[in-house]
Amino acid sequence: MNPIDKLIEYFKEFPGIGERQAKRFVYFLLRKNPNYVNELGRTITDIKNSISQCQSCFLFFSGKDKKTCEVCANSNTDNTSLLIVEKDADFESIKKSQKYNGMYFILGGLVPVITKETPNFVRVKELKNIVEKRSKTGKLKEIIIALSINPQGEHTDLYLREVLSNLQKLYNFNIVSLGRGLSTGTELEYSDSETIKNALKNRE
Ligand SMILES: [Zn+2]
Repeated sequence: MNPIDKLIEYFKEFPGIGERQAKRFVYFLLRKNPNYVNELGRTITDIKNSISQCQSCFLFFSGKDKKTCEVCANSNTDNTSLLIVEKDADFESIKKSQKYNGMYFILGGLVPVITKETPNFVRVKELKNIVEKRSKTGKLKEIIIALSINPQGEHTDLYLREVLSNLQKLYNFNIVSLGRGLSTGTELEYSDSETIKNALKNRE
């Protein structure tokens, strides 16, 4: 395969990128000066070495050889509350609102409405483990499901409630959703702090 086609194939694997956009990226790079392309290549190579993934909430964070992120490691974090989001960008939005001081869990994706199996990027097993661990210490009181307001988000919300129902019976924590205060089609990633503040206030 020639280098142009090869790079197009790589870009096509990126989320939301089709053949046409992949081609545009490649020709964009060909027009750029060599320094830019070298620096980009180096940054891509470094990213796996300079970024860690939190073993507790699965957030990607800057820092090498660290096991837990700033939020999980901070003793001021309220460990009676666990907030589930789809992805890292949603975590950023909630954190920016400064209205939530509890623990987080990055689910890694949503469960499609029409499926028999949970996609392997959704961390259901890991979620159950962490909920059990935090319940056993007797501290977990509330789980907040904070997913985007669309059919897939709502489907995942119901799915998570089902998955957690046995643990809930056993340990008696509350499960609430961030849905109220957010309108249909809302994506947390693009929500402003004020909207998130209201949603957190009105959670049920
Ligand atoms: Zn963490």
